[in-house]
Amino acid sequence: MRYAQIRDMDITNGEGIGVALFVQGCHFRCRNCFNSSTWDFSGGQEFTDETKERLLSLLDKPYISRLSILGGEPLADENIKDVISIMREAKGVDIWLYTGYTYDKCLSDPQRKQAVQLATYVIDGQYVDELKDLTLKYRGSSNQTIRMTNETNRMTNETNRMTNETNRRTNETNGS
Ligand code: SF4
Repeated sequence: MRYAQIRDMDITNGEGIGVALFVQGCHFRCRNCFNSSTWDFSGGQEFTDETKERLLSLLDKPYISRLSILGGEPLADENIKDVISIMREAKGVDIWLYTGYTYDKCLSDPQRKQAVQLATYVIDGQYVDELKDLTLKYRGSSNQTIRMTNETNRMTNETNRMTNETNRRTNETNGS
C-alpha cells in the first residue's frame, strides 16, 4: 500500500483529537473530490512496517481517542489488506473509516465486510457534487451516511481511556 499523509493531531475527521491516515489511490474519481491528489495508486509514499509502527505509536497518547482512515480509498483492492492489518493492531482507539463504497456494498464482499466490522464508525458512499452540503458533519454530500458499527468497542475504548487518565492523574499526584 501507499499513503499520502499521516496527520498526528487531527481535529476534523472524527470526534475529539485523533490521528488521520490518508491512503493513496482511489478508483472512484468523484467529480470535485476534496483530495484528487490521492487518486494515483503510484503516488504518495510506500507504507512500510516502520510506517505502521510509527502510526501505531502515535495512537499511544492519552489525548488521542481515534484513528481516522481515509484517502484515497482505504477499501480499494490495492489498499484493503494493509488497512485491515492496521485496524486489527490499533488498540484502545475508535476507528473512523471513510469509504466510497456504500455500506451495503461492503457487506457483499468478504474483505470489505471484515473492514467495516472492525471500524467503530463508517462514513460511506462516494462524494456526489450535486448533493454537496456544507452543513453536514464529517460528510461532503447528503447521500453519504455515518454508521456506528461497533458500539461495544466504542464503550470499551472510552472506559479504558478514562481509566488510563485517572491512573495518570493519580501517578502525577503521587509524584511518580
Ligand atoms: S471516493 Fe473519496 S477520495 Fe475517492 S474520488 Fe470520491 S471523494 Fe475522492
